[in-house]
Amino acid sequence: MSGTLTIVGTPIGNLGDLSPRAVEALEAADFIAAEDTRVTLGLLNHFGIKKPLVSYYEHNKRGRGEQLCARIEAGENCVLVSDAGMPAISDPGEDLVAQCAARGIRVVAVPGPTAMATALALSGLPTGRFTFEGFLSMNKKSRREHLLSLRDERRTMVFYEAPHKLPATLRDLLDVLGDRRVALARELTKVHEEVIRTTLAEAAARYADGGARGEFVLVIEGAPEAAAQGEAVTVEDAAALALALAAEENLSPSEAAKRLAAETGLRKSEIYHAMNQKG
Ligand code: SAM
Repeated sequence: MSGTLTIVGTPIGNLGDLSPRAVEALEAADFIAAEDTRVTLGLLNHFGIKKPLVSYYEHNKRGRGEQLCARIEAGENCVLVSDAGMPAISDPGEDLVAQCAARGIRVVAVPGPTAMATALALSGLPTGRFTFEGFLSMNKKSRREHLLSLRDERRTMVFYEAPHKLPATLRDLLDVLGDRRVALARELTKVHEEVIRTTLAEAAARYADGGARGEFVLVIEGAPEAAAQGEAVTVEDAAALALALAAEENLSPSEAAKRLAAETGLRKSEIYHAMNQKG
């Protein structure tokens, strides 16, 4: 008889957040698939649990997923954990769950902490409707497209970000979304836990020269109603974004206008003309 895949949420900082059910699931597993086996070994040692560990991470997930499914189908019970929080939320696991589901393997969860819901709950911003955006791409073009697609988003937005990329991300968010309320939730459940409730302009200024330490979740207020009622990106806005893009990526004005035209649906010639007037 086929076994089960159990996805187990682990602490995002404070080890006291590992639930008794999570401990039971880890103890009951035949083996544990972990994003970084060294990190998980630390957790298991802390709780006195001894289990065979198998790595499952971004760069081996395709082939390894097949092997894990085959072992589960042969009757073994596998627990999947990531380095912190809920597996499959902005870390590997999403694919394994999909693979198991497609093969008819039973998948169950032992829910645990996740940084996105914890930050949202602490943000002081509306939580009734929200959108989780994960990490912004490192690639400038897809990053800008992602941000542009959110300009009129009314729901509260939640982003993950690494500290060294925070200054650039705050600048880009301010450029594209305009000034908004933001909560920066930092080092959640750890000794230096902090929630900075401020605005994008103030946050961008505060971290302009770096100085961001620890892990961050950004929770950003949705667009005000007027912006969301179909007030599309103006030619002026697109020209400003194109000028910034040309400078950042060393593009010709014409190439930058073309890229913004593709992203906004505005005419390249209009954007180009407005760029000339600005520049
Ligand atoms: N699966 C995890 C979860 O459920 O939250 C997220 C994994 S993702 C690879 C790591 C990102 O989560 C970090 O870059 C940071 O944005 C966020 N994060 C994780 N732990 C955090 C913490 N203690 N405080 C603030 N943000 C945290």
